[in-house]
Amino acid sequence: MPIRNRFAELLPEIKEWRQHLHRNPEILYEVHRTAAFVAGKLRAFGVDEVVEGIGRTGVVGVIRGKGAGTKTIGLRADMDALPIHEDTGLDYASEVPGKMHACGHDGHTSMLLGAAKYLAETRNFDGNVVLIFQPAEEGGAGAKAMVDDGLIDRFGIDEVYGMHNAPGVPVGMIVTRPGPLQASADEFEIVVTGLGGHAAEPHKAVDTTLVASQIVVTLHSVVSRNVDPLHSVVLTVGTFQTDSNASNIIPQTARMRGTVRCLNPDDREKMEARVRRVVEDTASAFGATAELHWEYGYPVTVNDEDATGWAVEAARAVAIDVDDAANPIMPSEDFSYMLNERPGAYLFLGNGDSAMCHHPKYNFNDEAIPYGCSFFAEIVERRMPAR
Ligand SMILES: [Zn+2]
Ligand SMILES: [Zn+2]
Repeated sequence: MPIRNRFAELLPEIKEWRQHLHRNPEILYEVHRTAAFVAGKLRAFGVDEVVEGIGRTGVVGVIRGKGAGTKTIGLRADMDALPIHEDTGLDYASEVPGKMHACGHDGHTSMLLGAAKYLAETRNFDGNVVLIFQPAEEGGAGAKAMVDDGLIDRFGIDEVYGMHNAPGVPVGMIVTRPGPLQASADEFEIVVTGLGGHAAEPHKAVDTTLVASQIVVTLHSVVSRNVDPLHSVVLTVGTFQTDSNASNIIPQTARMRGTVRCLNPDDREKMEARVRRVVEDTASAFGATAELHWEYGYPVTVNDEDATGWAVEAARAVAIDVDDAANPIMPSEDFSYMLNERPGAYLFLGNGDSAMCHHPKYNFNDEAIPYGCSFFAEIVERRMPAR
């Protein structure tokens, strides 16, 4: 099935926006120029209401359709870039050293702007569309900041949809699934305190390095021995540092940091409890002490069954191919905060044979733009048909 012809016409213009944003990356909540660009475009399109500063630097636009319908659909894009130095050699490469749109949020923002232009022109739906442009997807929980700032109630959002580009998936293909799609991301820090001393006299010390190593090894039994084998959980210890730099010293403290990813929300607290037990009791067995600091991060991204059904129908109407039974992935996504508030669905849009996201040679594929825009338009018109 074809994309909307209007988006083929608009492609050169949308590409220009995308490449402008690509040249001017901003990270986390500091997306001031990006937000101003978005708000300016929305006003130029004749969007009924444009509100800036939701969740610090988020932007919201409202388009009212034909008819008196009150149903309201939220469409979400993220605006932030990453602290990576670009290495693409593109003529529109980042002009900001050390910052780059390496996750394609320049593309997501441009596609939602393209859809906004079309929807403001045609208004061929009965209800309201809320265009959500969020800051700080990359580790700053910008979606949560917008939700905490009243996004959902203030604009009366009933359902939310969003999408992310997917390197390795052919352009024109859309991939998703009902239920858990992306994992939660919780972080922990462990501080082990032994008794420092001379490396040649370990019997007079408590060897912090050995205790911490034992903790790392035992932590890897938690996923394999305490979690239902049919649930997906990842535990990774990413850093391990002691306070000694010398070969002849037994250090006093060791510090480890890591992450836990779960696809089943119920496993998150269980993981914290088991990790705490292993950390404290292993340390105690060796005569050391250990402290665990646990920080809950992005929730599991869970697609609502009905909403995913609607999204898949809309995708089938505009995409070349749709896989609605994709495997979930373990990286996390803060759109999950919006999906925890209202039913909705998140989709992956083929980015073709590109470098992976977060790689210095990654680039969003402009050929995907008409498919993404068409999906946004289609879900609105299908879910809220004009009478
Ligand atoms: Zn990313
Ligand atoms: Zn991303």
